[in-house]
Amino acid sequence: MFFAPFLSSLYMGAGAVPAMEQCKLCLNHVAKLEDSHFLSKGIYKRLRDDKEKNPNPWQITPKTAVQTSDQMKARLLCRDCEQRFCKLGENWVLSNCLQKDCGFPLASILSLIPPDVSPAQNHTKLYYASKIPEINVSALAYFAVSIFWRGSIHPWNHDGTIPVKLGPYQEQFRQYLLGMQAFPKDCSLCVVLREGKEIDRLTYPPVGQRKGTFHLYRFPMPGLAFTLAVSRNIPPSHREMCFVHGRGNPLFVTSCLEPLLLDEARKFVQRHVKPHVNPFML
Ligand SMILES: [Zn+2]
Repeated sequence: MFFAPFLSSLYMGAGAVPAMEQCKLCLNHVAKLEDSHFLSKGIYKRLRDDKEKNPNPWQITPKTAVQTSDQMKARLLCRDCEQRFCKLGENWVLSNCLQKDCGFPLASILSLIPPDVSPAQNHTKLYYASKIPEINVSALAYFAVSIFWRGSIHPWNHDGTIPVKLGPYQEQFRQYLLGMQAFPKDCSLCVVLREGKEIDRLTYPPVGQRKGTFHLYRFPMPGLAFTLAVSRNIPPSHREMCFVHGRGNPLFVTSCLEPLLLDEARKFVQRHVKPHVNPFML
């Protein structure tokens, strides 16, 4: 046995072609793919609390609860496609979502505008984003799709499974992200601005399951939440709420989501985290 750090250069010298890696988005081959995040790097930044001795966010998995700087990433995209994701979605969304200093630019924009629909009985308000020039509709939709799509191309789950299944729309979403196709007309994306302070930063990567005749995936992040429904059989109510295809690009502002997310987090922690290491008192 021997160890030779120079072995690769010997091969190269002998005329071997270096291994190329294929970008999952543009399908081009490059010498080395980037370390692509599942959730954007900027989301992790907004989950840190620099005032604390340990500023890292808590990561809760079926096996443990730890404060960690670990980020979910894998070699998936070429540099051009990484930059495309930043330019067409991440930059605007991450500058306008809930920030580390508790500023929330998108909420501030909406606070100055009367909602288009505000039912007296509940706490949900509806804005037609197409009427609000400060809102970058295409960036919000693009960002959300880019995260769900990333969930569909790599086995991110702890058990080695792929978290998001886009089925027959897989290729159409890839082409949408490349600007070659429209958002699939059989799918529906719901965008919610989360109101409430208790767990407004609770974030998890897309999860979902079959719900009757369609697949529904959810992704909450600081101040925002996205839901993607995938199927030809989506109920009309979901279609009307679609941020891309619905009338006026409907954007919902609600505090109704927070109790559901808290309840979900509580059940997860109780099921998976041993009481003596449960730091959440949930
Ligand atoms: Zn690429």
